[in-house]
Amino acid sequence: MAFYLAREKYGDIVLVEKEPLLGAGATSKAAGGIRAQFATKDNVEMSMLSEKLFVSFKEDTGHEALFDQVGYMFLLRSDEEVASFKKNFEMWQSVGLPAQWLKPEDIPQHAPNVALDEVQFATFCKDDGLGDPHEFLSGYDHAARAMGVEIAFEAEVTGIATANGKITEVQTAKGNISTPLVINCAGPHAKLIGEMVGAKVKVEPIKRQIVTTGELDWVQPFFPMVVDVRSGLYCHKESKGMLLGWADKEVKPSFDISIDPDYTDAILERALELMPRMEEAEMANEWAGLYETTPDHKAIIGYEPSVEGMFHVTGFSGHGFMQAPGAGLVTAEILTGKKPSIDIANFSPDRFTSDALVKETNVI
Ligand SMILES: Cc1cc2nc3c(=O)[nH]c(=O)nc-3n(C[C@H](O)[C@H](O)[C@H](O)COP(=O)(O)OP(=O)(O)OC[C@H]3O[C@@H](n4cnc5c(N)ncnc54)[C@H](O)[C@@H]3O)c2cc1C
Repeated sequence: MAFYLAREKYGDIVLVEKEPLLGAGATSKAAGGIRAQFATKDNVEMSMLSEKLFVSFKEDTGHEALFDQVGYMFLLRSDEEVASFKKNFEMWQSVGLPAQWLKPEDIPQHAPNVALDEVQFATFCKDDGLGDPHEFLSGYDHAARAMGVEIAFEAEVTGIATANGKITEVQTAKGNISTPLVINCAGPHAKLIGEMVGAKVKVEPIKRQIVTTGELDWVQPFFPMVVDVRSGLYCHKESKGMLLGWADKEVKPSFDISIDPDYTDAILERALELMPRMEEAEMANEWAGLYETTPDHKAIIGYEPSVEGMFHVTGFSGHGFMQAPGAGLVTAEILTGKKPSIDIANFSPDRFTSDALVKETNVI
């Protein structure tokens, strides 16, 4: 965001970070997946815009970062899954997303060694893929600083002052900053930043775990992100092995990021079911992080209605790395008075009062 704002010549920008380095929050825990295959048009368009920006990243920022477009594949077994993805697929075609509808016999050429029992179809999009969040963050960081963005580290925001319903100052552990505008991009902590001005930001922190394996000689460099829709397991190649993740829907909101061994076991069980050759795998690493989750699993992008001067860019619900470029660009466009590249009305912070909330259902 700071990069796109600086590029749009917004003015003085200070990025205030409580940690001694950037990306120590949810971003450091991300699996690196980048996809546009969502169930809501809003998310598809936001991700398509972001994928374009991942492709032009070097040209835009002057820094190298690999967007490895190995694709994303969703495996569909039940009639229900097929019917729901058929609808998604039609919508993807209407917006020009180059996804394919695959039969089981077409799957192994993209994703060998995956068990296909009961799989009726799969969707595959070659424009989706993988990226290292730290590589992209580092590129944005350097490019933003080169354009004059200041970063205040170890500067936890402790309060936000207002006068006559308008923001006037941000109070931090390193001193106060006078400003009429605060962008709330605190990820899983976004609700706490909102509370500083009495705003109710609909973001809850929810733990998610990941496991990585050691080297596996059967994992090919072209292996895509594979999502087993039935079990919820997602996996992709990672350092010659595999990264495995799964969203335990029973986890309640909290800031706890301790590793739960039962959660790890549940991931490994699902992985063995999907890829029996996982039997040969050794666990290399595991970690837990927080999804910043909204009730409809869509980001919140827009002005806070209850106070003047707060703009939220948060609540990405597990897709905040992949949508960061698009969200950064549209935020900069809006804040500099331009027409945003895509319509973001359905990401508005005040949508939660409506009964007609359209939920994102393709969440992993
Ligand atoms: C296990 C896991 C896997 C994931 N996989 C993917 C994936 O494959 N693809 C994808 O797109 N997304 C994925 N995500 C989601 C993604 O990581 C997040 O959506 C994204 O990183 C959110 O970025 P952010 O900048 O909004 O939040 P963060 O990265 O958390 O950044 C917010 C920053 O605000 C700082 N902060 C908070 N409070 C304060 C304060 N009071 N004062 C100052 N600073 C403060 C924090 O220190 C932090 O650095 C995953 C998340 C997890 C947990």
